[in-house]
Amino acid sequence: MKCVSLPGSELEPAFAGQVTEQSGVDINRCYQCLTCTLSCPSVFAMDHYPHQLVRLLQLGAKKEVLQSATIWVCASCETCVTRCPNEIDIPRLMDTLRQMAIREGVSGKEKTAPVYHRVFLKSVRQRGKPYELGMLIELKLRTRDFFSDLSMGLKMLLKGKLSLLPGRIKGYREISNIFRRSVEGQD
Ligand code: SF4
Ligand code: SF4
Repeated sequence: MKCVSLPGSELEPAFAGQVTEQSGVDINRCYQCLTCTLSCPSVFAMDHYPHQLVRLLQLGAKKEVLQSATIWVCASCETCVTRCPNEIDIPRLMDTLRQMAIREGVSGKEKTAPVYHRVFLKSVRQRGKPYELGMLIELKLRTRDFFSDLSMGLKMLLKGKLSLLPGRIKGYREISNIFRRSVEGQD
């Protein structure tokens, strides 16, 4: 388990309050029992385990948290919040932290997931559902990583798992409106 040592100058106590206000999650109820971390299927890819991230939030370690790979590799599976004795909604915290990192232009340790996040949301905003082939092309162009997963992509294409043409759901305008209202709500 990674130990984190932070100089006091890197702590911003107001950050904890901002995260609580924006997420609606009371991080002060966490008493570091580790149940979330012991239940999480994504810890192998995290630089800070879920209980550590909550502790860093309590301390106001804004830079360390927003640059963390953890906020991008959380799969939002909700196992942690289901098992937490204090019902601390870690996936909701992760969502809030991802949006904060994007808004503040923070470049963290995880490079591809933030780009995927934007490409995915753009596709859903425009069509009401993801258009996988379009997302794949945009992701490759933005990350300039043209060859990883190429064989898997071709296999999916040959098996008809990737539609060639973009489609839309009937209520795509309502979905776009939800996105618009959520952006307006942040102003
Ligand atoms: S399970 Fe809940 S109380 Fe326990 S460490 Fe995780 S967030 Fe904190
Ligand atoms: S929601 Fe995220 S942090 Fe919680 S158990 Fe799932 S992957 Fe881990």
